[in-house]
Amino acid sequence: MNMKILPLILNMRLNSAQPIQQNRNDSVQYRTAPLLRSPENDLFERNISFTSADRPEDVSPSRSSLEKLYKHHLTCLCCGREMIEPEEIRKLANTGALRCNSKEAVQILEKYEGNMHSVEKEVFGILKEKSKKYPDLNFQQILTLIKDEHEKPLIATQFGIFKMIEKASENINPELRKEIKELIEEEKQLIMDGNNRFRRKRFVNKFEQILSGRKNSATREHLIRLANKLPTSYEDKNAFIVKYSTKPADAIGIRLLSYSMCTIEHVRPKNPKTTNGENHLFNYIPECMRCNSFRQDRPMIQQLEEHPEMFFNAQRLMNRLVDFANRGKLSKWYIVKIQDRVKQESEGLLDLNIDSLNMSRKMRREYAKLQEDPVEPKFTVDDEMAELRAIYRPKTTADTTAETLDETNNKIYNKKRTSKNKNKNTEDTPKKKTNKELKREQIKKLHQAKYGSKKRSETKRR
Ligand SMILES: [Zn+2]
Repeated sequence: MNMKILPLILNMRLNSAQPIQQNRNDSVQYRTAPLLRSPENDLFERNISFTSADRPEDVSPSRSSLEKLYKHHLTCLCCGREMIEPEEIRKLANTGALRCNSKEAVQILEKYEGNMHSVEKEVFGILKEKSKKYPDLNFQQILTLIKDEHEKPLIATQFGIFKMIEKASENINPELRKEIKELIEEEKQLIMDGNNRFRRKRFVNKFEQILSGRKNSATREHLIRLANKLPTSYEDKNAFIVKYSTKPADAIGIRLLSYSMCTIEHVRPKNPKTTNGENHLFNYIPECMRCNSFRQDRPMIQQLEEHPEMFFNAQRLMNRLVDFANRGKLSKWYIVKIQDRVKQESEGLLDLNIDSLNMSRKMRREYAKLQEDPVEPKFTVDDEMAELRAIYRPKTTADTTAETLDETNNKIYNKKRTSKNKNKNTEDTPKKKTNKELKREQIKKLHQAKYGSKKRSETKRR
């Protein structure tokens, strides 16, 4: 998955940042950080018409049209959090604005508090509280100050998990058990040496390596599950504080925001070994960095199982995207295609509603094909309307169905237009309505049921 590189970029930058006591004037390391492109330039955006593409093939596969929407505070597909525009984080990183004392840094970050994930929000709350007492200390100095009180519960948890692992490995063969014991002793040393050199990820990798000889037995699964219970900086505030107490003040500030950054997720994972999701607009959807990096290149159905709140959050995001498409800021083909892609990748579970998309006839046809139910349009009608539709229901294949439906609509539009003036003229001399007129009226009702009181010009414009 392409987005895997983002956490790497960020980590690289965070890790490469110089310790606070060294030369802090050097901001070159940030200037060169290849974060996402600037989505600015409103004028440019207004002049682009994404609706001009007649066919999906005419739509640019680039992600830039989605990136331009970042600044509109999109919500995450998965967790539903309002995401931060990458450009804002990049600016903060480039200018080193967060190297200041905690009082000023808190003022800068306060407006993002609602965007933060729970652990980050907890840590920020602690920093905010401490900054009142120590306004002149920077974030790193504060974390160093409070590190000890947070390290105690962290170590207790870590050692407890090590104990559980050792107990659970009593039944496996003595050689493996010995290896596991040695690894644990090694890591305990790293924890206790005072510099927090224990790294959970490294431990879990080594641990899995030791167990890799064993087949997928229940014991192996159990052991790996236990190892994965070791606290991480993104799930445990103590682990966060201990880990980041050695990082520069601005890196700590940026880290509080970075997991809430808006990124592009590949709906079909970009893994050549399995699915090989393409780098194409029709496979991209906005998601926060945390959810993106957690999913890795696993199938979307798994993400959905882990986060059933996605059912609500994905629809909320889709509603926003449909709104942008209706306003010409995003391709309507994108909406149709991504709806279908999400449905496929979630094995039909996440069937997002895009009824509010103002589709052209051509698009409706395509949409009907995708829905595999071209006869039934996606709007509700009463029995009378259903009957009427039956009159126009074509006899054979899906394609002709959609086409006929389109033709019908076309006629409705034209008739509606021309009949307006006619009705005015005949108002003075009312006469018995002919069958044709009655039919026309019914058609008009059908049109209204579908488009409400919108005139043709309105539905066409978008
Ligand atoms: Zn998220």
